[in-house]
Amino acid sequence: MAGTGIFTEILDGEVYKYYSDGEWRTSSSGKSVAIINPTTRKTQYKVQACTQEEVNKVMELAKSAQKSWAKTPLWKRAELLHKAAAILKDNKAPIAESLVKEIAKPAKDSVTEVVRSGDLISYCAEEGVRILGEGKFLLSDSFPGNERTKYCLTSKIPLGVVLAIPPFNYPVNLAVSKIAPALIAGNSLVLKPPTQGAVSCLHMVHCFHLAGFPKGLISCITGKGSEIGDFLTMHPAVNCISFTGGDTGVSISKKAGMIPLQMELGGKDACIVLEDADLDLVASNIIKGGFSYSGQRCTAVKVVLVMESVADELVEKVKAKVAKLTVGPPEENCDITAVVSESSANFIEGLVMDAKDKGATFCQEYKRDGNLIWPLLLDNVRPDMRIAWEEPFGPVLPVLRINSVEEGINHCNASNFGLQGCVFTKDINKAMLISDAMETGTVQINSAPARGPDHFPFQGLKDSGIGSQGVTNSINLMTKVKTTVINLPTPSYAMGAGFISRL
Ligand code: NAP
Repeated sequence: MAGTGIFTEILDGEVYKYYSDGEWRTSSSGKSVAIINPTTRKTQYKVQACTQEEVNKVMELAKSAQKSWAKTPLWKRAELLHKAAAILKDNKAPIAESLVKEIAKPAKDSVTEVVRSGDLISYCAEEGVRILGEGKFLLSDSFPGNERTKYCLTSKIPLGVVLAIPPFNYPVNLAVSKIAPALIAGNSLVLKPPTQGAVSCLHMVHCFHLAGFPKGLISCITGKGSEIGDFLTMHPAVNCISFTGGDTGVSISKKAGMIPLQMELGGKDACIVLEDADLDLVASNIIKGGFSYSGQRCTAVKVVLVMESVADELVEKVKAKVAKLTVGPPEENCDITAVVSESSANFIEGLVMDAKDKGATFCQEYKRDGNLIWPLLLDNVRPDMRIAWEEPFGPVLPVLRINSVEEGINHCNASNFGLQGCVFTKDINKAMLISDAMETGTVQINSAPARGPDHFPFQGLKDSGIGSQGVTNSINLMTKVKTTVINLPTPSYAMGAGFISRL
């Protein structure tokens, strides 16, 4: 159970503690932030509302701990990460339980998130050992006008303090996808978890604590992003921000100053369906892509752009599958569970009502009970409807009928987002041309968009992000290249053995 067993020390009465200087602490603010269970709409947990002084302290500790961490051999850093991964996986049950209660993720998927996160930490440790153990050696005489008088040695060095801010929908996985690369690369890490998802993150951080990382190297500050967020992101001690979330990321980017940013933001992933597509395959992918975790995924299919000639048949197939989706509590592994908050549900409803007023075809009756919204397919959506462009982050999927591939590509590219997209056709040549024409960070051919596997590069164009994720890309982003140049007074050219024997 959450907050019990090895996790007892992270709880103070009914309020979870924050983590600083290798210890679990109660904030001097005397205030807490309530975490509302999306299903019951009642307070499930409470976390500390940390103060600016506590942030200052954590940053000071992070700066000093990083200096000794950078001098810790790479294999030892990897060893600790493997240990944390094993503890995390061994304790998947209480962490998954808090995911169920905080963000209404179906129980099975919650366990998967924790296990996947452990695997990600281990993979990162292995990859880090390989890519950080290698540098480059350059010789000056390859550039015109130079003799071989300069030997340039390059290696990757840490940036310093990395600030990690994940979103509510994959709080554990998207936290470790920032923590593990930052640590293996020799950085220290300050985590600000999402409020919905904070308790799962605190449990996860405790697994790093139990693995024995040095004091001050990892900290976890809790509190509302709207209150503590600006202070954190504009803190002078921060040397890199890795953020995943919505539009907040755009405003953080404008305020952050001259530090590397990894921004993974929203998406309006289009699914383009051509006439020759396997419609059964498309329908299953639309269900998986559009309705998994109730559509609350950055890479959810968020608009279907289908050729008019096959649209009726596809809509019928998707409708039949929507009818089979189970709706209810995450504890019972229902496919569709309550969306994260009442304001989210209200936002989704606003998009649905706008589509209704403008004449979209409702393939099911619109139904809502509290934060629970029944899955809804909207056919004959037109570009003047908000849902054609906005990200509902809920179980509502618009279908726009198109008369040419170009119309589909143009719709996709007119979006301010550019995360992923997908195209369904049996013609690989056409698929490649469409993939190249789509202004998105990734295009999936004959499958729904997806972030995983976690070592694949993952990036968004336009308002969907800055930089790229995926194990290798994250490690590279959280390091900087350092060069040392050895200057020789006279040119020196290394000779082969054959040359020496003929002298
Ligand atoms: P969000 O509202 O932007 O929140 C993300 C994080 O930012 C949370 O930890 C939040 O804390 C924090 N935050 C809020 N205000 C802040 C501020 N002023 N300064 C610093 N941090 C602040 O996003 P969300 O609702 O959690 O997640 C949904 C969004 O994430 C969707 O748009 C989705 O597409 C996107 N997403 C993108 C990816 C990707 O990889 N591209 C993956 C998953 C999700 P509080 O919770 O305390 O407010």
